[in-house]
Amino acid sequence: MKMTAMPKITHHLTDPLLMAYAAGTLPEAFNIVVATHVSLCDECRARLHSFDAVGGALIDTAEAMDLSVGSLEATLRAIAGKPPEPRAVRRATGLFPAPLQEYVGGDIDSVVWRRVGGGVSQAVLATRGEATVRLLRIPGGVAVPDHGHRGTELTMVLQGAFRDETDRFAAGDVEVADEAMVHQPVAEEGEDCICLAATDAPLRFNAFLPRVAQTIMRI
Ligand code: ZN
Ligand code: ZN
Repeated sequence: MKMTAMPKITHHLTDPLLMAYAAGTLPEAFNIVVATHVSLCDECRARLHSFDAVGGALIDTAEAMDLSVGSLEATLRAIAGKPPEPRAVRRATGLFPAPLQEYVGGDIDSVVWRRVGGGVSQAVLATRGEATVRLLRIPGGVAVPDHGHRGTELTMVLQGAFRDETDRFAAGDVEVADEAMVHQPVAEEGEDCICLAATDAPLRFNAFLPRVAQTIMRI
């Protein structure tokens, strides 16, 4: 498996996402995407550290203020539930960055793909909670059908690139789409575009699959 040098990342995680990650309040599905991006991205890792520092200062203040037992317990629970801080760039061999390899239990060779139509394949990763995270494999030149979102969608490109109405997204980039966005990502010609995408509600495909199939495939 070749590993080309990661090109310059131009699309980053938002502050609210990094803050929620630092606070341990994101669903597991989103934690995986955030940890994977942060492992490759110096800029987002630096911002995450700054939010960690702010969180630490707040906790110190809370301790000095002699808060009630209940709120101290809640604070300690929040600390205990905090996701592990991604270590600095650990370049795994293969396509997947280290946090994703750890989650999948291997690299892309160990992924079991399921076709979802139009040449697109996916593999839903097992996570707790309502939010889901999947790997998507989109052949070059193929469009992911026009869709809106009933929630937030966080997509990170692992290989290849895609374009939609907003911009071009290449390896390492993340796109944050909200409910207001209806877009049609198209994989660039060439190698398959492989993405890691988390959604906190089912995608609303407009003309792709019947609803019952969406339920079965957990799209
Ligand atoms: Zn970044
Ligand atoms: Zn989308």
